[in-house]
Parts: sequence; structure tokens; C-alpha cells
Amino acid sequence: MDAKIVLLGAPGSGKGTQAKRLCDELGLTLISTGDLLREAVRNNTSLGVKAKGFMDAGKLVPDELVIGLIQEKVKGIKDGFLLDGFPRNLEQAKMLDTIADINLAVNLDVNEDIIVDRIVKRRSCKQCNEVYHLEAKPPKAAGKCDKCGGELYQRTDDSEATVRERLRVYKERTLPLAKLYQDRGILVNVDGQGEIDAVYKRILDAVKRKL
Ligand code: AMP
Repeated sequence: MDAKIVLLGAPGSGKGTQAKRLCDELGLTLISTGDLLREAVRNNTSLGVKAKGFMDAGKLVPDELVIGLIQEKVKGIKDGFLLDGFPRNLEQAKMLDTIADINLAVNLDVNEDIIVDRIVKRRSCKQCNEVYHLEAKPPKAAGKCDKCGGELYQRTDDSEATVRERLRVYKERTLPLAKLYQDRGILVNVDGQGEIDAVYKRILDAVKRKL
């Protein structure tokens, strides 16, 4: 499928979980800037060292660091792809326009109180980045990834205080992108609340209707 999709939504709206599933089913390449940055931090690369402080504080990493990452990834892809966590502001959206023709933006809509609960109870796999929720999607064995057996951990930016800052940054910098894609006629708003499977079905229906 020649889909070039941007997945928008607040932190904790379920982008990562839904993105993985959608890419598996539709054969799209998943590019998650958050995952790429966390990997850089884990490997202590020069990018990781520069990005860590911003991430831990719930701020956006400076554009010049993220844009290089995306350019390199997107240019290497021949078929469809889905971007999770990029673009995060208007400057990044403009840059994206110079390297790809985005044909769909999916905006996941979730109430703020639900978001905080989701993030505080979120656990992620150190090895494969699979995401769990202690109640809605618990791992079969405590602390272990179902998929690869890797160790589960709580992201350093998943504390309640940092989540509030990430939500503030989201509203100020990222939310305006929904209007940008709406004006182009390629935005679909999807209710991101409820069971993971139900949300997934809504997204899949929206993608199939639009593409
Ligand atoms: P995420 O996994 O998408 O929630 O991203 C985690 C953190 O990585 C964010 O709070 C930012 O600090 C950083 N980050 C991820 N994507 C971007 C981006 N496109 N631009 C700037 N910072 C980003």
C-alpha cells in the first residue's frame, strides 16, 4: 500500500501501540522518532547525549537533531510508511513536505485525565520497544516482554510531572498540525478512547476509507 501516513495525538494517546499493529497489518515501515531517540540515548551516541536532557524534561528535542534522523530514514523507503511522533511542530511539518507527499494524517483523540493514567501505568520493553499498560494490556509474566522476553521498564519521562509538561508542549506546538492537515483535506480524527482493539478497528476503517 502506497500510504504515507502521519500519526498525530497527545503523548499517551496510543500512537505507539496502534502504529505497530497498523504497520504489521498493512506492510508499512514504522518510523518512531521517540523510539529512535531512546535507542540513541541507550547507546550513548552523540545524538543521544544531546537529546537526553530535553527528553527527560518533557521538552522537544531541537529540530536540527531530529530532522537529520528522519531525512535519513524516509529517503531509504520505497513503499509506504507511517510516522509516529513526527512532525511535532510546524517547522518539522514544512521540512517533511520537502521529502515526502503525506497522503493521510490520523489524529488520535483522548481525554487528558485518561492520558495521565495511561502514561503513569505504561511499561515499555528495553529490547523491542513493545508497549504495555499495567491494567489494560499487562504482560503475561510480570516485568517481561511477551514478544521477546526483554525487560520492561518505565520511561524516565513517564512520571506525572513530566507528562503534564509534555501535554503542555503538545498543545502549544503539535496540536496546530491537525489544522494544517485538515486544511489540506487529509486529516481524519479518530476517537482514541476505549479498548485497544476497538480503537484499532476505527483507525483501520479510517485508513481504508481514505486510501
Ligand atoms: P514519544 O516517544 O513520541 O513520546 O517521544 C518521547 C520524547 O522524545 C519527546 O517528549 C521528545 O522529547 C522527543 N521527541 C520525539 N519525537 C520528537 C520530534 N519529532 N521532535 C522533537 N522531539 C521529539
